[in-house]
Amino acid sequence: MSDLDQWLAEQLAAIDAANLRRRLRRLDSPQAVESLVDGRPLVNFASNDYLGLANDPRLRAAAIAAVERFGAGAGASRLICGTLAPHAELEAALARFKGTEAALTFSTGHAAALGTIPALVGEHDVVILDKLSHACLVDAARLSGATLRVFPHNHLEKLERLLAWARDNYAKARVLVVTESVFSMDGDLAPLREIVELKDRFGAALLLDEAHGVGVLGPHGRGLAAELGLADRVEIQMGTLGKALGASGGAICGSARLIDFLVNRARSFIFSTAPIPAAAATARAAVDLLDSGAAEPLRARLWENLRALDPAATSAIVPRIIGDEAAAVAASESLRENVGLFVSAVRYPTVARGQARLRISVSAAHSPEHIARLKAALAEA
Ligand SMILES: *Cc1c(COP(=O)(O)O)cnc(C)c1O
Repeated sequence: MSDLDQWLAEQLAAIDAANLRRRLRRLDSPQAVESLVDGRPLVNFASNDYLGLANDPRLRAAAIAAVERFGAGAGASRLICGTLAPHAELEAALARFKGTEAALTFSTGHAAALGTIPALVGEHDVVILDKLSHACLVDAARLSGATLRVFPHNHLEKLERLLAWARDNYAKARVLVVTESVFSMDGDLAPLREIVELKDRFGAALLLDEAHGVGVLGPHGRGLAAELGLADRVEIQMGTLGKALGASGGAICGSARLIDFLVNRARSFIFSTAPIPAAAATARAAVDLLDSGAAEPLRARLWENLRALDPAATSAIVPRIIGDEAAAVAASESLRENVGLFVSAVRYPTVARGQARLRISVSAAHSPEHIARLKAALAEA
């Protein structure tokens, strides 16, 4: 064994010993509520395809039409010669949908974060993040070189103290507050009205990641900021095109000046080949379905399913905290083996150690019978 192999073997053994080993599961079906997972038909409660759009005939048709008209690949980065009509049309549709002057899309939501935060803040600046912010937001904040401070999840007093501290100690700095609207592993909401008041009072900017809010919350699924009438006070609205929108990609919506600046400074945008035109056309079809109201029956069904599973649900993510890593994995395995339900066990480092859980995600495509089966199995467990 080479030194590297030896080290890899030791690392994997340590991951195993901590019950933290992860393995890829292969789907031999489309991403749908009834999926063929590792050769077994399972009812899928693990996907983020909240509206069931990933395999929707309208999105499939948009993808096929884009391939026919624009071919398979994009050929270059957007700035070189990779901006095809579907990219421009997607961005116009997103800006319309979110009610912003402009939008910029990236190959993933992860890339949107990595490109945007380091473009906006640097070593003389301050980023203040919610403790439960997604890994890509944390990585992006680190990459920026700014001074980082973390406030306990949704803790407004601590956020206020950090904003005051930044004002007193970093007089010339740009201060960026970063949070999510719907937290990806807990499904709870940020106290957005209070956060917006605070950042305005201290002259900070806000990046709000609506990865799990878009398509689920707000009028026509415009997200939590729109639901609360705060969208025009959030400077940087981030989202993914890969979850409720059923496609792939990431987006930043905001002022025309912000978008022009990111085109010039966001490295994950500048130095990366454009997404294939079919990805942009697929996402655009999803945005149009939402914007026009044509997806409202899907959103209504999603919320009916959620209320049937848990009347207290605030988003499409319903966690069942177990704590112990091995117990969470065992619970997930038992649901799979005994009742044919695919529910992911989420462990460190996605959540804190000792906070392992089943992360149930509900879709508009689940039937009442699927929900009843899950409910019964959870009650028994
Ligand atoms: C999934 C996710 C992202 C990343 O988006 P991708 O398009 O999957 O790269 C960003 N933020 C949050 C909160 C997420 O859950």
